[in-house]
Amino acid sequence: MSITAEQLSLLHTHSLTPHLQKLHELLWLNPRLTNFKSIQDSLVLNGANIEDAASRLTRFAPYIAAAFPETAISHGLIESPLRAIPNAQHALSRIAGISLPGKLWMKCDSHLPVSGSIKARGGIYEVLKHAETLAIAAGFLDKNSDYRILNTPELRDFFFKHSIIVGSTGNLGLSIGIISAKLGFTVTVHMSADARQWKKDLLRSKGVTVVEHADDYSKAVEQGREQAKQTPLAHFIDDENSQDLFLGYSVAALRLQKQLKEQQIIVDEEHPLFVYLPCGVGGGPGGVAFGLKHVFGDNVHCFFAEPTHSPCMLLGMYSGLHDQISVQDIGIDNKTCADGLAVGRPSAFVGKFMEPLLSGIYTVSDENMYRLLKLLKDTEQLSLEPSALASLPGIINILSKGSAYLKQHKLEDKMEHATHISWATGGSMVPSEEQNRYYQTATQLT
Ligand SMILES: *Cc1c(COP(=O)(O)O)cnc(C)c1O
Repeated sequence: MSITAEQLSLLHTHSLTPHLQKLHELLWLNPRLTNFKSIQDSLVLNGANIEDAASRLTRFAPYIAAAFPETAISHGLIESPLRAIPNAQHALSRIAGISLPGKLWMKCDSHLPVSGSIKARGGIYEVLKHAETLAIAAGFLDKNSDYRILNTPELRDFFFKHSIIVGSTGNLGLSIGIISAKLGFTVTVHMSADARQWKKDLLRSKGVTVVEHADDYSKAVEQGREQAKQTPLAHFIDDENSQDLFLGYSVAALRLQKQLKEQQIIVDEEHPLFVYLPCGVGGGPGGVAFGLKHVFGDNVHCFFAEPTHSPCMLLGMYSGLHDQISVQDIGIDNKTCADGLAVGRPSAFVGKFMEPLLSGIYTVSDENMYRLLKLLKDTEQLSLEPSALASLPGIINILSKGSAYLKQHKLEDKMEHATHISWATGGSMVPSEEQNRYYQTATQLT
């Protein structure tokens, strides 16, 4: 899977490469973005797949409400609030020294119930789908059953014979571990070196086996994959390749559509929607963006955000080499405070899939993620983990560096009516001492 010397020398003729290597913050506009209607039918996934995933989550809702009482108020749907953040928008405008027209919102997946990050969408979905498949095949369940039967000792004993295995930088492990242990599965999480101690401790307290690795994310995934091959009745959650994860994330778009309606926010040709999504391996932001394109077509403009130290999706899409290249191949260290985004090699399928759908990718330095963590806390009393803050400067990027994009898509006159959504991907489960340390680090920077 390694890159050849020839490909590498070719890459050095690309003008962005030296800027990536120097860890400059930059905005890359995707030249392959295509009119959605014209390519919709050629995609390997479609609206029916999203609807199918949404129906599955609806079938499971009574079980979720019973197994996780904190979801009872949302009737077993694991969903997060959409919040206006006008004070943060004002502060961002001040630090950027430009006006930021339109309205900025935050999609608070940081506060999703059960596992406190965007992984509570894809990760939980894939485990539920696997559990459903097993329980139906064994005759315990059909699609019209009351799924609360899954919350009984008999079913837990059944699932105990089956294993779930995953490799993770932390949050995916957390969501897979929590839901799998609740269902009764035997579950092992392979954690990369960046994974936080509290995440490992929390999983162990729930009976999850945590294997710690000295290497980065890609190695942890590889080890998990190997273990799964040697374990009978094992299901490997493949963060680098899984379409189930991707579809679990995509359901967010249907939910957001409803929330926008409730807030009377219009999205159409005159009222564009910009969405900024922190990107690690790509499944989370890719799934959400795919769902959004399905719902809003060319009226939504999706941008990924990556750390300057881990711009794997940018490098893969920009070079066209996708998972054939890692950031380490061009001398970038993949070391960042944004542990959820500390991924050196992108997903094998997300980058290719996103080629006609994604508007662009920008990068953010660790220092700025810390500064924004403090800014958001000071202005909106919202505490997020560093990864999630990568979404916040999206509005600045598009308005300060994105004029070519706005011009090309005839958006220049429409920005007063634009809606911007910063996707806050994680943070509510971070222990308060750890969150205080993040804040102190930020204070020392300013
Ligand atoms: C995992 C994660 C992401 C990105 O999701 P990918 O599927 O890895 O691209 C973003 N933010 C946080 C906090 C995460 O845990």
